[in-house]
Amino acid sequence: MSDNQNGLKLSVILTVSDGQVLEFPAGTKLTTRKDMTVKPTAKGEVAWALELCDQAGRIWGRPFTLLVDGERLVEDDRVLSAVILHESGFLFLDCIVEGREEDYRFDPTSLEPKPTQGRPNLDAGLSLFERGFARPGTVTPGNIRMITLCGGCSEEFKFRTYHAGLSDIFYYYCDSCPNVVSVSHNEDLVYEKLKRINKVITPPARYDDFSTDEVAENVDLHNEITSLLRPCPCGGSFALFNPPTCPHCGTPYIDFREDIFRRINEYYLMHVQGAESLHSHWVE
Ligand SMILES: [Zn+2]
Ligand SMILES: [Zn+2]
Repeated sequence: MSDNQNGLKLSVILTVSDGQVLEFPAGTKLTTRKDMTVKPTAKGEVAWALELCDQAGRIWGRPFTLLVDGERLVEDDRVLSAVILHESGFLFLDCIVEGREEDYRFDPTSLEPKPTQGRPNLDAGLSLFERGFARPGTVTPGNIRMITLCGGCSEEFKFRTYHAGLSDIFYYYCDSCPNVVSVSHNEDLVYEKLKRINKVITPPARYDDFSTDEVAENVDLHNEITSLLRPCPCGGSFALFNPPTCPHCGTPYIDFREDIFRRINEYYLMHVQGAESLHSHWVE
């Protein structure tokens, strides 16, 4: 990554369905941002094709398609798009559709050369931080809808993120669907349990700061909380290490590896579009 502190190793070419081309030659300074206004196609979508090339030719590329749910984009819609080559080593493609309350961000593309040809890095089990969706010290605005590709079925799905740390909540995913349940630290049931705990693991958490007993106590805390939750409407159950999953094929999107530090440090709750986000879901 050290070269990326100065400039882009590869050249990047972004082709838009309306004929526009944005090019970033190798050596382009990071961070660089280019903006453009693009026109939807007759199908009511905007499509981008991305190619990352080295001197020997194409290394890999990927398509992005923005099709606003339920409402096709029309020719008069203004889609403002920003391409950001960030010093973190990721390319971001962000879109604003004028008149809509939410903005769109496609899954960031790594600017590092890839050993595999023809497809982006969709490794299962990467955290939102490892995928470039979240950065420490920067709060992702709540109105951004992320558009990502599943590593299992390569289908696209959308999600939003909520900062659990700033909202004082714990959250747990269903083991059978993408639903998620959140519980506030201030709810009586949770508050009473939190009082009993010597040291609660909260982000950013480091292994060195906790003894084995303290870790066990924290895992027990979450197991006790989830044991008091009603089953998911789908019949599944909620638990600390359940991963968020693809709504099309159920492939885990993040692998917490049964590691409470990895889990707690993932402090963004992922709300997959179409899934339910449940609150106060206690057994009566
Ligand atoms: Zn999938
Ligand atoms: Zn479920």
